[in-house]
Amino acid sequence: MTGKGHRLSTFAFVLGATGSPIAAAFSFMGSTFPDSSEYMFFGKRRNRYHRRYTHWFLPWAGLVYVCFSRAGWIVPRLSALVDGREAHRDVWACAGFWFMGCLLHILEDAWCGTVPFLFPWKRSVGIHVFHMAKKIGVMSRGEINFVLCSVGISLVAFMFRFFTVSSFVEFCVTLWRSI
Ligand SMILES: [Zn+2]
Repeated sequence: MTGKGHRLSTFAFVLGATGSPIAAAFSFMGSTFPDSSEYMFFGKRRNRYHRRYTHWFLPWAGLVYVCFSRAGWIVPRLSALVDGREAHRDVWACAGFWFMGCLLHILEDAWCGTVPFLFPWKRSVGIHVFHMAKKIGVMSRGEINFVLCSVGISLVAFMFRFFTVSSFVEFCVTLWRSI
């Protein structure tokens, strides 16, 4: 998946799942790190190691677990970070969501190619829900559709956080009557 696709779908997914813009922002920032870290670790030999060690879920999942357990499994709040009370928990939660972005990156790559599962040097799991464009950095039509779908579903999930099902139906009926 392209960097753009990773950032968009990760931001939308985390926003929909947690309802927290700050959690979504930190996942957005982490969402391209598994790819960019390859340049850091392997430099020019990056292609040989692409989607291998950096795309193994276990270390990222471990870091997510450590940060979230330190945070006490909370979703970070901007207000807590600003007023500073108990803010260390929110800082850990932000770091957790940054690594969560890395973990989601791997899941997203598995939709359009293969990533390691048991051994970090062997790409073994993945399904081709869509194909990547041949040109690097360009989104294929399949990728655009995939990203639009995940953004759409996440926005609906985000909206439902502010409505219960019955209040949502009531809202629609009132809206209908007012037209
Ligand atoms: Zn990748």
